[in-house]
Amino acid sequence: MLQGTRRFFVLLSLLAVAGPAASAPAAPPPDGEEGPYRVETLADGIHLFRPADPAGGLSNSLVVEREDGLLVVDAQPTPEAARKLLERIALRFARPIRFLVLTHPHADAAGGASAFPPSTLVVASGGYRDAVADDSYDFGAEARVRTDSGAKFDAPPRAAPTLVSWTPLRLEDRRHGIDVLPVAKLPAHSAGDLVVWIPDARVLAVGDLVWSSPNAYTGSGNVSNWIVALNAMLELKPARVVPLRGPAADAQPARLLREGFAWIRGQVEQAFVDAVPSGRIADHVLESPQSAKFLDLDASPSWVRGMIESVIAETIEYRRKRGID
Ligand SMILES: [Zn+2]
Repeated sequence: MLQGTRRFFVLLSLLAVAGPAASAPAAPPPDGEEGPYRVETLADGIHLFRPADPAGGLSNSLVVEREDGLLVVDAQPTPEAARKLLERIALRFARPIRFLVLTHPHADAAGGASAFPPSTLVVASGGYRDAVADDSYDFGAEARVRTDSGAKFDAPPRAAPTLVSWTPLRLEDRRHGIDVLPVAKLPAHSAGDLVVWIPDARVLAVGDLVWSSPNAYTGSGNVSNWIVALNAMLELKPARVVPLRGPAADAQPARLLREGFAWIRGQVEQAFVDAVPSGRIADHVLESPQSAKFLDLDASPSWVRGMIESVIAETIEYRRKRGID
């Protein structure tokens, strides 16, 4: 709880950088299919590149036009995918990429970073820097479990960031100033999450901290900290939330994920009170008639059991630390 509280206040301090309401955007350039991507303009000069084929091994990248050049959020899962993105960006904008901001140290988000031009300033959290510097850290863990069982997966090279921060960082610009907001020093979805806030347009790029439905990979994360991060993100009152996968949406998917996690936590705590054997708790929660109300049980791949197991592990650790049988 103490850690969660501290995290909450760190996140709350980030809210001071929230800016004024969005002004009316100028007419955006035409959207549509661009090679393997579908481009959607979210606000003047803010463009989401989404995979045209959701099963094609690509992920979302956000491109922000600034007076000082382009800023890209997330680098695609592999150097090959990043080269496809860079090709499309070059065709559309004819401007240099100045910044690459990496939301977290998973190959899905950052595996393509090494393909960006050497002149790009790579920005990430302190947690990202420490994770990728650790040879024993499994950069490709999430991407590997997405591959078919038995399929070989080689984690892509890890790019070390140049600009690293544990605390909020402002990249000033007369067109789109950007706030890079690391999610404190604790793991939420990963060991080094950050969000990218564009105050004038109220656009928030969140990596894997928000999923399009309550079905989220929690492999190396911490659900308690994740809930705190979701609360802080919702306090920003974003108009558009950009996840690593799926469409940009309003804040509702973030709310639903928070409610899903909170529901699991309540169910797991009750199961411990009811002395359900710990090996049975995940099934017990899934068998609840309410599970389909709070969780997306039909999604594929499904991370729902993992979400519950993460909460069980955190609850066991919490009880152990406090000497509760
Ligand atoms: Zn991830």
